[in-house]
Amino acid sequence: MDYNPRMAPADLVIENGVVLSMDGPGVGERTGPVLVAEGRIVAPDTPVAADALRIDAEGRVLAPGLIDPHTHPVFAGERSFEFALRMAGKSYDEIAALGGGILATVRATRAAPAETLLRGARERLRRMVAYGVTTCEGKSGYALDLEGEKRILRMLRELGCVPTLLAHVVPPDHSRSDYLRMFIEELIPAGLADFCDVFCDRGAFSLPETRRILEAARAAGLGLRVHAEQITHTGAAELAAELGAASADHLELVSPAGIEALAEAGTVAVLLPGAALTLRAPWPPARRMIDAGVTVALGTDCNPGTSMTESLPLMMTLGCTQMRMTVEEAWRAVTVNAARSLRRDDIGRLCPGCRADIAIFDFGDWRALPYHFGPPLAWLVLKDGRIAYRASGFSPTVAP
Ligand SMILES: [Zn+2]
Repeated sequence: MDYNPRMAPADLVIENGVVLSMDGPGVGERTGPVLVAEGRIVAPDTPVAADALRIDAEGRVLAPGLIDPHTHPVFAGERSFEFALRMAGKSYDEIAALGGGILATVRATRAAPAETLLRGARERLRRMVAYGVTTCEGKSGYALDLEGEKRILRMLRELGCVPTLLAHVVPPDHSRSDYLRMFIEELIPAGLADFCDVFCDRGAFSLPETRRILEAARAAGLGLRVHAEQITHTGAAELAAELGAASADHLELVSPAGIEALAEAGTVAVLLPGAALTLRAPWPPARRMIDAGVTVALGTDCNPGTSMTESLPLMMTLGCTQMRMTVEEAWRAVTVNAARSLRRDDIGRLCPGCRADIAIFDFGDWRALPYHFGPPLAWLVLKDGRIAYRASGFSPTVAP
């Protein structure tokens, strides 16, 4: 971290919270005030400015802002009709023949004015922050042409997301070789993304194509992520580990060799139980991965086809109840481990030097977050020390 202890006095003091520092094993629970100066957490013995803002957490849980490391938040339209067809027993191919699938969202997204796309994404991000989320990775992949993909990447940056360039599928108006060439020679060098991701699966990109794209992205200085082992087993987990990817995501069908490779390489497994829930797919084997030494994070996979949710706490509930994670593991999966999947050490913990991205929840026992599933339970959310969200019952402040 590029942090030097500052001489600036604290300008914000949060008192009477149950603090989850996420430092060390477990959740790092402690008591005592949290001090902030110029948007960063500072040591508890830092002098406090006379006009500092003081917030009384009244015994509530005070955690690092949650981090959603896998979303597709910029798109137009919705696909509830497709959900209904799936629930009525229609197959993937039947749904595609009836006008569903990724290409339905591509048609709507290409046709949408910028304001429509931004408004939809802002609404989704506003719902996320009410769940306590302060950092959101977001992927392109719903335009699938040069200018459209660049437009989505610029929007992701403007929305404050961590932008990822996604090779999603080959669109019908490009040949495979043309799309790959355009992706590698024009989209990767455009410099609009922090990460590059490939959907490596049946109907998307093959393992050799995935290698080609990721090697080009790595050479261009992008971090790597992979949609791996979701619908078919491909060996993409092993490829992600071999290439030093920051994350391998989904992993419903990961093999024992894939798990071993991820553990060895330190590639974070980003598990997405919302997609397994929607598709009635097998749950990703979180317990086996954690027991094998893999760092596991959880994400919503927020997207209109297979996981239409903004609720990261609901993913914690599914992680615990369906994937046999402990409550401590679920908390780490959406904070410090999610930060690691984004190669960030300045978020996901509450330690001196970290950004003051803080979620105060409206309960006093941290085990309540996956336990009380459904409603947004944040009481106050701070991003870089500034109020990003306050619940309707929040009564501000405590004057100096
Ligand atoms: Zn995804």
